[in-house]
Amino acid sequence: MRYLLGFIACSLFALGTLNAQTPKINSSTDIYHAIEKLNFLGTALYIAAHPDDENTRLIAYLANNVKVRTAYLSLTRGDGGQNLIGPELRELLGVLRTQELLAARRVDGGQQFFSRANDFGYSKQPTETLEIWDKEAILGDVVRTIRKLKPDVIINRFDHRTPGTTHGHHTASAMLSYEAFDLANDESAYPEQLEATKTWQPKRLFFNTSWWFYGSQEKFKAADKTNLLHMDVGTYYPMLGMSNNEIASLASSQHLCQGFGRLSTRGTEDEYIELLKGDLPKNKSNLFDGIDTTWKRVDGGKAIGDILYKVQENFNFKDPTIHIPALLKAYNLIQGLSNDHWKNIKTEELTSIIFAISGLHLEASTETAYTNPGEEVEVQVQALNRSNLNIKLKSVFLNTQKVAIENEPLTNNNLITKKVDLAIPASTNYTSPYWLMEKGTLGTYKVTNEDLIGKPETPRAFNAKFLLDINGTAIPITTPVVYKYAKPDKGEIYQPFEVVPEATASFTDKVLIFADANKKKIPVTIKAHQDNISGSIELKYGKDWKVDAYKQNFSIAKKGDEQTVYFTLSPPSTESESIISPILSINGKEITKELATIAYDHVPTQTVLLPSEAKVVRLNIQKAGENIGYIMGAGDEVPTSLEQIGYNVQLIDPATITTESLKKYDAVVLGIRAYNVVDELKFKQRFILDYAKNGGTVIVQYNTASRWGAQFENIAPYDIEISRDRVTNENSEVNIIAKDHSLVHFPNEIDENDFNGWVQERGLYFPDKWSQEFTPILEMHDEGEDASKGSLLIAPYGKGNYIYTGLSFFRELPVGVPGAYKLFSNMLSIGKDKVETNVKIKG
Ligand SMILES: [Zn+2]
Repeated sequence: MRYLLGFIACSLFALGTLNAQTPKINSSTDIYHAIEKLNFLGTALYIAAHPDDENTRLIAYLANNVKVRTAYLSLTRGDGGQNLIGPELRELLGVLRTQELLAARRVDGGQQFFSRANDFGYSKQPTETLEIWDKEAILGDVVRTIRKLKPDVIINRFDHRTPGTTHGHHTASAMLSYEAFDLANDESAYPEQLEATKTWQPKRLFFNTSWWFYGSQEKFKAADKTNLLHMDVGTYYPMLGMSNNEIASLASSQHLCQGFGRLSTRGTEDEYIELLKGDLPKNKSNLFDGIDTTWKRVDGGKAIGDILYKVQENFNFKDPTIHIPALLKAYNLIQGLSNDHWKNIKTEELTSIIFAISGLHLEASTETAYTNPGEEVEVQVQALNRSNLNIKLKSVFLNTQKVAIENEPLTNNNLITKKVDLAIPASTNYTSPYWLMEKGTLGTYKVTNEDLIGKPETPRAFNAKFLLDINGTAIPITTPVVYKYAKPDKGEIYQPFEVVPEATASFTDKVLIFADANKKKIPVTIKAHQDNISGSIELKYGKDWKVDAYKQNFSIAKKGDEQTVYFTLSPPSTESESIISPILSINGKEITKELATIAYDHVPTQTVLLPSEAKVVRLNIQKAGENIGYIMGAGDEVPTSLEQIGYNVQLIDPATITTESLKKYDAVVLGIRAYNVVDELKFKQRFILDYAKNGGTVIVQYNTASRWGAQFENIAPYDIEISRDRVTNENSEVNIIAKDHSLVHFPNEIDENDFNGWVQERGLYFPDKWSQEFTPILEMHDEGEDASKGSLLIAPYGKGNYIYTGLSFFRELPVGVPGAYKLFSNMLSIGKDKVETNVKIKG
């Protein structure tokens, strides 16, 4: 809602409520703060690669201390990260992290933009990043953002001169910004953009450096700082009752899915920025020094400034309504500006201020979270003036539909309410993030509608347009139609109002492994998003696969209810991969999408439509052993994957581990980062190693080197040192160096082809030193690097075996990579090829 966006104090108050749609509190201090910002005509753009890369201290400082219009351009939406707070990964994680960035900006007062770059996973070098991103397209997106936003200064989070020292996405973001700084003003660059925008030359480009980039505090102290600007960003804002650092900490604590919830910092805080392009400011604590940021920078602005500076100077905190005549005069002058850029920005800001001073409350809300195209929905329109100003509501439109209100006087504190049946046209698009509507590439989203590129969200489909007459000046205010309700245990909740399909269908498992020729019964859940819905569901499947009764009927009485139908799928006799997808037919309309909902308290609820499908894989896989014990670490889906190929997997509570308790397992597997996150293991490690010694198989998946202190020196029965070595190119060549080892022969023959089709990476945190008892099985490397042999190590121990592997099984198994299944099955089966002599554990 366009109340006072960018007012930090009101945003802070709004934190107690559930999301961005909730009306803000507009106190006199908030209004004063907004007037200060209204009187600053300057823009700063901060550029980095991921949600959570941004320096919220500097963004908060610019937005609240310097009062600059401040924006953060995050090239990606962070799809490639992990998720601390829920199950969302990949596209859905990108949607969640987009909302976390918007939540952070509501706190620190900045704005948020994106490019079409997809966070495809870790890359060591920017060259690799820029091969996977469509470099021309992403550079064009940075140029477009600069042309639209028209920043005076740009600040890069990362150094464009030091490839290889940080994530390739990071350096690439700085390199693109460095290039775009000049291209934005070049008519021959991306000329197609110039139909909707104009060229623009920013004045200065900076790099947001710190001692960290110099290697140590001492080196930084000694460094030449001629080109460095310095600011103390720990400043306290008496008007807001908070320091800049506290605001910044609250903002970055919005990145909850990345585990950024943190304590507030207080006190003096040094911030340094290094000039890369443009002239060095004389005042080296002011990055706008020498840039006109007054109303005089706009043709016709002086008269506006004369009015507005006076309002700021004489601001009446007790009764700000006395400023309305002056503000309306300024509003009318702004409408006459020939500079559309500043006209639009300042109209929006001033409208919010007039709105806040009047105590206006304008709202259009529904009692339902969603509806379907072609339906009607009741909307409650409310208008309230909470001042003695002479305000008339001239008209209200819900999109193009006129509400029966005309020249209605809004007298002080008399609430006007009208209920309207809003017709949702049959042609209305379903609500969903615009960047996920079409299939993109690994590195770049596909967005056909150029107007949407850069926007954080899909614009809301339904809006209420209020036309007000305030003291004789006509002012339009637009606000999205929202869903408003109360929860007894939460209070009032505002949520986006959405348009969804009549019903959607989804598979419980996104990957189904057929380890043999047996049929499987596949459940498909149909969810109704309308009352009394019926139709048929059909399963689409690949050739060589067979389905009994591929088409079935369904009928659901109530919106929100579900029905599960089953299809029996027979795999082909040989190895094969295919996609299955359900198609719903309802009154002649076909629906092929599934609906995902993302709901957390710190962001507005999101609904996302994705293609409904599952991958089916027929494997010719052999295995030995039955019972697997799994000790979960940071969380992975490996146990479910192993069940899919017929293992009986039990999750082991670390507290219950004893020599006796492990005996029943054919193998014991430790989940990713188990030794990093499960403290209990330090007391249980001797039982785990004894289990191997007595004939069991222990498989340890990757752990990070940090916290790899003395407490885990016995992680393996022999010396082993974990490094930060990783192979990030999932297609990098793999050589089997232990060609005779049974790990590559029993019960499945493994060859180089089993490393085809891997996703995101080969593996991470490979050991770089190990004692001679270990046999390295594989060798691999990223381009231009030395070969690493540490990805898969095995050592016999007593009567059993110990395996350490940094291979990314936790990524490969859930997406159904056949070779990864076979290799994992071989690890679990190790030692079981020798006839029941000494290794078989008693069950
Ligand atoms: Zn990052």
